[in-house]
Formats: sequence, C-alpha cells, structure tokens
Amino acid sequence: MNVVETQQPVSSLPIYHHAIDWDALYRRYPVPDVFEKTRWRWSAEQIRAFQNEQFLDLMQTSWRNGFYQRRWKAAGIEPGDIRSIDDIGKLPTFDSDDIKKDQQENPPFGLINGNVRQQLTREPVKVQTSGGTTGKPRPTMYGPLEWEMNGLTMARVLYICGMRPGDIIQIPHTCSLGNAGWCAYKASHDYLGALPLTTGTGVVTSSRRQIEIAVEWGTNVWYVRPEYSTQLAKVAREELNFDLRQLKTKFLGCGLGPDTDGAFASQIEDLWGCPVYDMYGTHEMGMGSFECRYKDGMHFMEDCTYFEIVDVETEKPVSDGTVGNMVCTILHRRTMPMIRFNLRDLTKIVATDRCQCGSCFRRMQKMLGRSDTMVRIRGVSVWPQACLPAIRTDPRTTGEWLCVADRLNENGVVRDEMTVRVEVRDDAGSWDGIAEAIGKRLHSDLGLRINIELVKEDALMEWSNRGREGKPKRILDRRFEKK
Ligand SMILES: [Zn+2]
Repeated sequence: MNVVETQQPVSSLPIYHHAIDWDALYRRYPVPDVFEKTRWRWSAEQIRAFQNEQFLDLMQTSWRNGFYQRRWKAAGIEPGDIRSIDDIGKLPTFDSDDIKKDQQENPPFGLINGNVRQQLTREPVKVQTSGGTTGKPRPTMYGPLEWEMNGLTMARVLYICGMRPGDIIQIPHTCSLGNAGWCAYKASHDYLGALPLTTGTGVVTSSRRQIEIAVEWGTNVWYVRPEYSTQLAKVAREELNFDLRQLKTKFLGCGLGPDTDGAFASQIEDLWGCPVYDMYGTHEMGMGSFECRYKDGMHFMEDCTYFEIVDVETEKPVSDGTVGNMVCTILHRRTMPMIRFNLRDLTKIVATDRCQCGSCFRRMQKMLGRSDTMVRIRGVSVWPQACLPAIRTDPRTTGEWLCVADRLNENGVVRDEMTVRVEVRDDAGSWDGIAEAIGKRLHSDLGLRINIELVKEDALMEWSNRGREGKPKRILDRRFEKK
C-alpha cells in the first residue's frame, strides 16, 4: 500500500514555494554560474534594453501604490508621460525621511508597503528594517520574489569573488531585523552549496569562540563587518596566540564604506592574509555594488538596480566622474517599490568600459560618505567619513575615530570647532608627533584646520560598534545642544 496519499486536497495556505514561478525567475535573473557566463558579459546596449523593459513593467504596477500615486500626481505626472527609462528624470526622487513621514501618517508600515495583512493571505511577506541607530527603524516589506532576489544577488557577488560549493562561510551578523546576515545565509545555503555558519555578532558568539569555530570547522570565507574583522584579529593574537593568516581564508566580504584609498582594506588584508572585497548595500536596496577580483571600482548590479548619480542640491544628473548622491531604482521590487530613492550616499562613476573581469556593469568609486551627515564648519563642508584615510594610514592608530563639533561662545563671538578623537594602539609606544601628523594630513584632506585629541585604545568603543549590530557613528554634533 502507498503510504503517501495519492489524492491530496489543495492547500489554501500562502506556501512560499508556490508563490514563485521558479523557472521564470531564473530565466529573468540567472543563478550565479549561469549569470557569470551570460548577463555579466552583456554589452552596455543589452543592459540598457533589459533595464528599460523591466522599468516599464515596474512603472505600470507602481501606479497602484498609494505612496507613488500621490507623489507623482503632485508632480503633475500622468501614466503616459514615462515612455522609456530615458524619462526617469521626470519622476521626483524621495529619501528615507519621506518613508518615515509616510509611515508616521499611515502607521505602521506606510502606504509605500501596500496592504501587508491582505498580501499575507495570498503570499508570505518578510520584513527587514534599517539599523535603527537613530530614531525608529524603517520597515521594508519583501514579497517572495524580492526576498529570493535578496539571496540571489548576494550569491552572484560571492560567486564572482570566488566562492564555490564545498566552501564554509562564517557570517558574524545576527539574523534579526537587519538584512546582511540573512542575505549571506540565503546566498550561500540556497545557491552556492556553501556551508553557512550563522554565528551572529560578537554579542551572540564571543570573538574567541568565533575563532575557535573557524579553526575547528574550517571556515574559508567570511562575510563580516570590517571593524569586527580587526577585532577578531586582535582577539586571536592576544587571547589565543593565533595568527589569522593560518586560516588560509579565500576572501573576506565587507562593506568597507568610504575607504577611498584602500588603506583600510590593506590593513585587513595584512591581518588576514587574503583579499578583502568591498560590497555596498542597504536594507532598502539590497546588494547595490561590489568589487570583482580586479578591485578596480565597484560594479553596480545593473540588471537588478538602475543607478543615477545626481547633484546633491539640484538633483540633476551629473556627468561620469563627478561626485553626487546615489539614486536607485530597483527593477524587480513590487511589494515596496523603490523608484528614484535618494540614498544620500556620495560617490562617482569611475568606469563604463569593459572591466578585466569581462563585465560592462558600470563601476563606481568606493562610497565617499553620507551627504546628510555632512557638517558645515566655518563655511567648509566636512564629511566625517573623509577622515578615514588620514586615520587608517597611520599604523599607530586603531583606525577608529569620532568627529566632535562644538560651538564656542566667547564674549559673544560664536565659533564652531571640530575635534577629531583618535584611538591610539596600546602598542604604539610614544604618542609624540601623532596628533601633529594626523592634523597635518586632515588639514590637507579636508581643507580645514581641526583639533586632534588622542584617546586610548577602545575608548571609542561606544561609537564604533565593533562586534555589534549597526554602523559606526563618526559624528557627535554638540553645537545645538542646550547648555
Ligand atoms: Zn570587474
């Protein structure tokens, strides 16, 4: 007798596997090895044609989204106005403040996320949020296809960087409301035949234990926050008398941030004895851009996201090579569409020709910092992140810093001052000359004379977020505090 029933009733539950037409998905967005041989090598014209087709489909469905409907109508746009991706500049941009406002006015998820409860009766929905270091976290809803794309895009990146079946990847990110850990887990587990060690951050699994697991189980790839990778090296050296280079790691995937001269990457590569590949993404965007093995700029994931670089103030497109804000349109998102989202992250396009890796996917410079954390000190715009090269190239520092802006009021004269607190390594020896050297470099990098305050190793732990969730905080603006 057959123990499995041959006649089963049809389920009415929103089963994940049934919510996706898998073959259609992989034809439209090929899996990593197929992708690497095909789309990754497309000409710029082929990429543009695909983007155009996906964009027009996105526009059609997004007119039903209340958030966009309101904004586009207010801007005087009619459905027929957008005939191709060349018209995208007619649509207004928006940023995270607009999402916050929408979610305050239409709690809890905002018009932009549609009717979540209703959608849940038809298909599964996953929610991820921003880090939530400032204010309430902003929820982003992912329908099944978008959730799958989260893992698939990351898998393509890891594959291009050299990950293959049989590898063991350690992921010291907590799979909580943030996106990073989940993406790496899905990518390695669902697409690459790699074993994901989802150890969580240093709070969940101590740094010492992270290293012991890596040694015992044979971790050979890491997806890790860069600050934490230096902490792991320190713990290995000091507590376990172990040199991480003995792990024979293939590569580290990190979101390096504004490491424009590569000093931070080199520091980590020295500690680990392997390449570090920069990857840039946000929870709202997913994986946006990444380094291939030639490390000559960061490729956009062109078939998933359409990127524009626009002027910080006028929002007009800037020419290649000019710094501006990144604006992204995610071509496959439908649950929470992202159409001309201004990330307020600064970068510029550095290459549009074919890379040595074989791809024409355009390349951007490493991210320069956020335009909205910019502070104006005595008429000069300063991005706290721009301090990075000066701090990281001095081997006596731990690479950690915090900018503190103060407003001095002396006899009625108001003057803004910037002080950079810099962590000095315990084994740096004498502190003589450190402040002068860094001050000089910063003066030339930023065009502003600023004060340097040296502090002991780990004194900035509270801000740098090493081993914890959340990005490091680099600016403490005390100018407008009530005294
Ligand atoms: Zn390349």
